[in-house]
Amino acid sequence: MKRRDLIKGLTLLPMGGSFIGNMLPGEAMAGTGFKHGSKRNLVKELGIRTFINAAGTYTTMSASLMHEEVMDAIDQSAKEFCMLNEVQDKVGERIAQMLHADGAMVTAGAFSALTLGMAGILTGTAQEKIKRLPHRLEEAGIKSEVLLQKGHYDGYEQALYNTGVTIIAVETADDVHKAVNEKTASMHFLNCNAQEEKIMHEEWLQLAKKYHLPATIDIAADVPPVSNLWKYNDMGFSFVALSGGKAIRGPQSAGILMGKKEIIAGARLNDSPNGVTIGRGMKVNKEEILGMYAALDKYINQDHDKEWKMWEDNIGFINEAVKKVKGVTTEITVPPIANHTPKLTISWDKNIIKTTRKNLGDKLRNGDPSIELISWGDPDNSISLTVFMLKKGEHKIVAKRIQEELAAASA
Ligand SMILES: *Cc1c(COP(=O)(O)O)cnc(C)c1O
Repeated sequence: MKRRDLIKGLTLLPMGGSFIGNMLPGEAMAGTGFKHGSKRNLVKELGIRTFINAAGTYTTMSASLMHEEVMDAIDQSAKEFCMLNEVQDKVGERIAQMLHADGAMVTAGAFSALTLGMAGILTGTAQEKIKRLPHRLEEAGIKSEVLLQKGHYDGYEQALYNTGVTIIAVETADDVHKAVNEKTASMHFLNCNAQEEKIMHEEWLQLAKKYHLPATIDIAADVPPVSNLWKYNDMGFSFVALSGGKAIRGPQSAGILMGKKEIIAGARLNDSPNGVTIGRGMKVNKEEILGMYAALDKYINQDHDKEWKMWEDNIGFINEAVKKVKGVTTEITVPPIANHTPKLTISWDKNIIKTTRKNLGDKLRNGDPSIELISWGDPDNSISLTVFMLKKGEHKIVAKRIQEELAAASA
């Protein structure tokens, strides 16, 4: 493109008018005030809403905040060049040791860990197979079927479909027996949907062993407890997929794939920066690879009992405050797997308090400061919250605001 055309194009952009003379875009940007160390607050400048997160590690809410240690790792590594594969090698080795795995790698979230782990199983390190994904697997002699229990479909199996496999639904050991054939690649398990009356982990692993298949597991949101970080490696799953940006508070777009050495080796070759492969769009930069490691290190070594006690105290504080409003009843529960942290559900008598879940959620969202609760899923006269993503002291603001809004809606 000619310089003149570039400039002509610029006038079509909303910012076009602010460019001085015939500067090129790069030169003009120097005039917008991006100076090193200027400490501009872009979130404020762009008018992006920030809020107190009393909901939890929800992806759309940007999930979690990184600790200083993670920011330091990102900051320092941003100032040097490294070979990306060397960063993965060294970090993967450390993570594998910490989490009792044969091998590990940092991925672009648990979703990409699932896709890459599946790809690793299908292709190993064979380049002609890696190039083939996700099309016409069978023609290339690649296995193409994955077994999944009916109750374990939650949408995230899309990550497996991305490699080109078909998923076969099973319910019983007999179903597994009937489904296994020469095309079967693996048996996948969704940890948060494990149901006592169906096939549980140990039996799933035994069946996989019986049919010489890898058993794989998605534990994306399943810490705390911290012991879950290694529990499923110890049990013998061939790969385990974990989110980095949920309760571990690593970079939101990072996750961990860990498991058998040969699966990790295959996954690495399917991932960036090792060719134009299905993982090429799942690039993780060196800052996030190292940030993920720093987050994991911090998470493993922190005082989990103390943190749990703080959560109980803070949720107790909110509970006591909102219970004072006439017509309110509350319940504190802890989900057994996934988001395993105290959760407060606040319900109200509709004859006394004239509001709905959606209304109350909107009032808190649009108030000052803005607060997000779990304003979906519950019945119309109740709302839920968690405290594990609150910053110091925010539980008091949350308690006060909910109490105020419920009182204001009281007849
Ligand atoms: C959050 C989640 C994922 C996706 O994790 P990302 O780290 O956001 O890619 C996958 N599976 C389950 C069960 C999850 O909860």
